[in-house]
Amino acid sequence: MLGCFNSTKQIDLKRLIFLLAFFSMVITLGNSLHATFRVQKALLIEDTLEANRVYATKLAEITELFLNSVVTQLSFSANYIGTDFDSRVARNNELQRLIKQTSSFNSAVIVNAAGEVLSTAPSSLNLTGFVVESTQARAPLLRKEPYISTPFISPAGNLIISVSHPIFNDVGKYQGFIAASIYLQGDNILNRLLGKHHYSDGSYLYVVDQNKQLIYHVDAVRVGTTIQSNEAIEDAISGKSGVRVLRNSQGIDMLSGYASVPISGWGVVAQRPLKVTLAQLNDTILSVLKSTLPVTILTLLLILVFGSKIAKPLWKLAIGVRAMDRYAQSNVQKIDAWYFEAEHLKQAIVSGTELVGKTIQEYDLDRQKDPLTQLLNRRGMLAKLEYFQSIKKPYSVIALDIDHFKRINDKFGHDVGDQVIRTLAELMLSSAREQDVICRTGGEEFAIFLPNVDIGQAVSIAERLRVDVSNHLFPPVAKVNISLGVAYSSRTECNFHQVLKNADKALYDAKRGGRNRTAVTDCEAA
Ligand code: GH3
Ligand code: MG
Ligand code: MG
Repeated sequence: MLGCFNSTKQIDLKRLIFLLAFFSMVITLGNSLHATFRVQKALLIEDTLEANRVYATKLAEITELFLNSVVTQLSFSANYIGTDFDSRVARNNELQRLIKQTSSFNSAVIVNAAGEVLSTAPSSLNLTGFVVESTQARAPLLRKEPYISTPFISPAGNLIISVSHPIFNDVGKYQGFIAASIYLQGDNILNRLLGKHHYSDGSYLYVVDQNKQLIYHVDAVRVGTTIQSNEAIEDAISGKSGVRVLRNSQGIDMLSGYASVPISGWGVVAQRPLKVTLAQLNDTILSVLKSTLPVTILTLLLILVFGSKIAKPLWKLAIGVRAMDRYAQSNVQKIDAWYFEAEHLKQAIVSGTELVGKTIQEYDLDRQKDPLTQLLNRRGMLAKLEYFQSIKKPYSVIALDIDHFKRINDKFGHDVGDQVIRTLAELMLSSAREQDVICRTGGEEFAIFLPNVDIGQAVSIAERLRVDVSNHLFPPVAKVNISLGVAYSSRTECNFHQVLKNADKALYDAKRGGRNRTAVTDCEAA
């Protein structure tokens, strides 16, 4: 239905403000957390990749240094043995020194140009007289230069790499080679160097040779096996260093940093699972959320308080306007409309209701007035009587009627009849007191209410008026007479309908009695 609204179904401004604030907060917070997540993720990945690259480079450098020093040691021993190659004692002593002086090697051998093992350290190896046959073991004989082998199973059954150096005698004739072995699965400097890596944060390290055979791996069982190739390995063994995000052989995404060991062509790869790296991020986001939450809640509370303050005057105005009874205006006046819009709305409502009230009042008055004489009409009269009765004011009533008015109309016309009615109204008004109420109750009939006037005084007033009228000149009619009926209402007796009836009856009596006279009916007589 138009103009009618159901307030219970509609959301109010306070809730709207709060919901708006709440959703803005949630969206803003979500957005900033998401942005933090994205930025932090990129940073974490970048940092981890870089850390792995630096670490792989460092270990590659250390390995390079280690292998260089190994070659240098062997070079020294080869030179030394070359001067006295045929002396078994000299060879054995030098091998012993080589093994014992540093813990770089697990074993060492001297092989002559025919491939026969001449000396070993430790001597327990029991390889003296053994002729090497495997491709890896014979490689130094063919190369006649310092050589680092690929991993292979030694004649003693160990997975090793061997570093060898050719031996030349004083005149530069090739004598054979000295080779030192490093057990890949045993205890040696290389393993200790590489094994220092921290594995607790999920990161790990491996080293591959040119053939992608594992030289070092945290899982010792895998050492010697060939690893499934990936871009990091390919890059590293082709001499490059860098970073890669890649999927490993177990399908796990890895953040890899890699570097190469130029002397041996090995590749060092340090890597950490992406998932483990990003797990940190959840903690970061959680702590961001934790630190943001108190301010967010405080802001929401503030918005709730201020939202209520903003909504309050409008809410009161809405309630005030909805009631629109006679208290509405004063209630609206009392509202503390503390900001511009509310104040102006309040003023508009106040002046609007004032205007409406005034218009209604004027309209009511118009409805109660007779347009010809400006006296109260019958409706106005009844309202007045109701009022008199409600305050229990005693009053007298004079009902009066123009005698033979029809004849005036007939003889002089309706307009003259109107003028007579107006003149009579003016005569009544001029002799009335301020508190008296004069009404035009019908065509040429009137009633006069005289508050606090008893029946006797009322009769005198009626008589005086009758005489005044009969003496007055009504041009062009000349003389006009009236008949009057008087009745009285005491404080307690008779309701106004009865009093009016009494007055009418008295008027009827006056007419019947010959007109141009006053008759009386009191309450008891009625
Ligand atoms: P009585 O002495 O018995 O009162 O005779 P009367 O002719 O006055 O009585 P009646 O009530 O029969 O006639 C009243 C006439 O007043 C009838 C009507 O035409 C006329 N009249 C009523 N209202 C108006 C008015 O507003 N203006 C004019 N000019 N005449 C009116
Ligand atoms: Mg009449
Ligand atoms: Mg009349």
